[in-house]
Amino acid sequence: MEVPVLSGPACPRCGDNVDTPEQDSLCRACRLAPPPFERAVAYAFYQDTLRSAIHALKYDRMHPAAKRLGRMLAQAIVQLHGEAPTNLLVVPIPLHRTRYTERGFNQARLLAAHALQALHASHPAWKLHLAPAALMRLRATESQANLTPHARRVNVRGAFSVNDPAAVKGRHILLIDDILTTGATARAAAVTLKRAGAATVWVATLARARRAHPGAPIGPTNAHNSSSAPSDTQDGAASQAPTASVDSSINQPSS
Ligand SMILES: [Zn+2]
Repeated sequence: MEVPVLSGPACPRCGDNVDTPEQDSLCRACRLAPPPFERAVAYAFYQDTLRSAIHALKYDRMHPAAKRLGRMLAQAIVQLHGEAPTNLLVVPIPLHRTRYTERGFNQARLLAAHALQALHASHPAWKLHLAPAALMRLRATESQANLTPHARRVNVRGAFSVNDPAAVKGRHILLIDDILTTGATARAAAVTLKRAGAATVWVATLARARRAHPGAPIGPTNAHNSSSAPSDTQDGAASQAPTASVDSSINQPSS
């Protein structure tokens, strides 16, 4: 499967593409408000083939794609090898139960399970334990698709809760999701885990959206393409799948 690779200078913290060619310089968002997670990694940009594959997984229930996508997620997680602790609790971003009922599965959990299977084989000494029930989604958040970055943060604020604080206290957590856009969802989940006593939180997603930076090249260039600002992981969307045109449906992701 050919997917675009992440290229160009990136923020060492959140992985966002940055304009400055200097190594290790944080992006503006991380300078202004350091994220509650240590580092976020992704396999590739959310565009083209990968976007179609994630869309097929979520809305067309193409579960066979999950194994292949899980191996890609494993490659993203490998970037943390040697940097993140060797004992990690792997927590997929949960769906709210209404969305879960609609979709029938949580794609983040499915991807995490396949990624761990690959990593247990390739990195047997790395202790990665899947903890799908560690985090709970308290409310069905509004679609993030048409929200500004600020509104996205407000939208997911207080959206998560930790089921059993004793299970995360002092633990190092690896949060998993399919797409990272502004990072609002990852930040909200990480804050919740840290408040419950988690020692550190790391983030790995299959894809990340390119943010629109002045002068930075942005994926495909059709005028109403929203690849530079799709909804932040979760939310929205289920409604768009069957009836929307191919273009608009793949350009308005979210989980
Ligand atoms: Zn950053």
